[in-house]
Amino acid sequence: MSYHLRKSILVTGGAGFLGSRLCELLLEQDHDVICLDNFFTGTRSNIIHLMDNPHFELMRHDVTFPVYIEVNEIYNLACPASPIHYQLDPVQTTKTSVHGAINMLGLAKRTRAKILQASTSEVYGDPKVHPQTEDYWGHVNPIGVRSCYDEGKRCAETLFFDYWRQHQLRIKVARIFNTYGPRMHPNDGRVVSNFIIQALKGEDITIYGDGSQSRSFCYIDELVDGFIRFMNTDDKVTGPINLGNPVEFTIKELAEKVVAMIGSKSKLVYKPLPHDDPTQRQPDITEAKAKLGWEPVITLEEGLKKTIPYFDNFLKNGSP
Ligand code: NAD
Ligand code: UDP
Ligand code: UDP
Repeated sequence: MSYHLRKSILVTGGAGFLGSRLCELLLEQDHDVICLDNFFTGTRSNIIHLMDNPHFELMRHDVTFPVYIEVNEIYNLACPASPIHYQLDPVQTTKTSVHGAINMLGLAKRTRAKILQASTSEVYGDPKVHPQTEDYWGHVNPIGVRSCYDEGKRCAETLFFDYWRQHQLRIKVARIFNTYGPRMHPNDGRVVSNFIIQALKGEDITIYGDGSQSRSFCYIDELVDGFIRFMNTDDKVTGPINLGNPVEFTIKELAEKVVAMIGSKSKLVYKPLPHDDPTQRQPDITEAKAKLGWEPVITLEEGLKKTIPYFDNFLKNGSP
């Protein structure tokens, strides 16, 4: 790529699960990448292999504080994503979403950078419309244990659209549905990592509730490809756009699949369902197909085949 096309790209939350993969792909596309992270849930090991790349720069920083740098594009991913982590310090979670969005939008305003927000299917709450389309306003508890995350992300979306209307910022709002793959945090309690680790160790598989609740799981590489396609769309394309794999599974089906694929002796056990746990979730991706030419093709089985060895290695060697 010629020099003038090389962009300076900021990835907040770049040491996390999705962010570290995004940094890798942007470097492969010959861009300069600044990874900003406070290492709350992200780790150095996720990005250690990038540290020698002269086009990669790591900034230890918290997005709730201002940052003054020069960039062409911003991917705003900084925020703990798993219920266990975002509920550890819920006030900080809301601050990260809201103050973080204000600071990154301020940065985008000053530098005239394009900015993409990693929003979430949680803005739909426990949805009454199924599958979820972007025009659905959601069914969200504003005062529950998940609210710090859900309402924080909803407020961030509001800020993005107000900076767009008020300051003509070039915004892209992606609503991400459950994503899985290598580098998921092994202790963050998300369902795919929990089930794989439990099955590999031969421990009980902990199904919360009766396992009839559903989720739709997207493999990480496809999700991150969706981010980059979205960032490269015409300025008129602001979203929100759902990004996720529309094939829906119940949590019990996921447990059975993981146990069968690993050939584990683990038994399924049933635990109480957490408060406000959404009963169903499936993205309608008509918009993503039309505007980004994007559609996931990696099946859950194929994605799990790529993910299980990562955790197997982690359990045997303590690191990826
Ligand atoms: P993750 O926890 O692995 O990554 C989040 C990163 O943000 C971590 O590296 C963490 O250290 C960093 N971070 C947290 N607070 C910060 C702060 N105040 N300042 C700077 N850095 C901070 O989670 P992930 O799965 O990679 O999620 C990335 C983004 O995508 C999040 O915004 C999340 O809400 C969103 N998302 C993810 C999913 C999913 O299934 N993985 C689904 C919906 C939305
Ligand atoms: N900000 C930042 N980096 C910049 C520009 C702004 O972190 O390069 C922060 C700044 O601290 C401010 C926030 O972004 O509080 C919002 O900026 P904006 O210009 O919208 O608002 P104002 O500075 O007028 O409050
Ligand atoms: N879940 C489960 N067992 C676990 C972890 C999660 O049954 O060990 C369930 C959880 O209650 C939810 C679904 O799996 O219904 C997805 O949970 P996750 O935390 O991965 O994501 P989210 O709830 O944010 O979609």
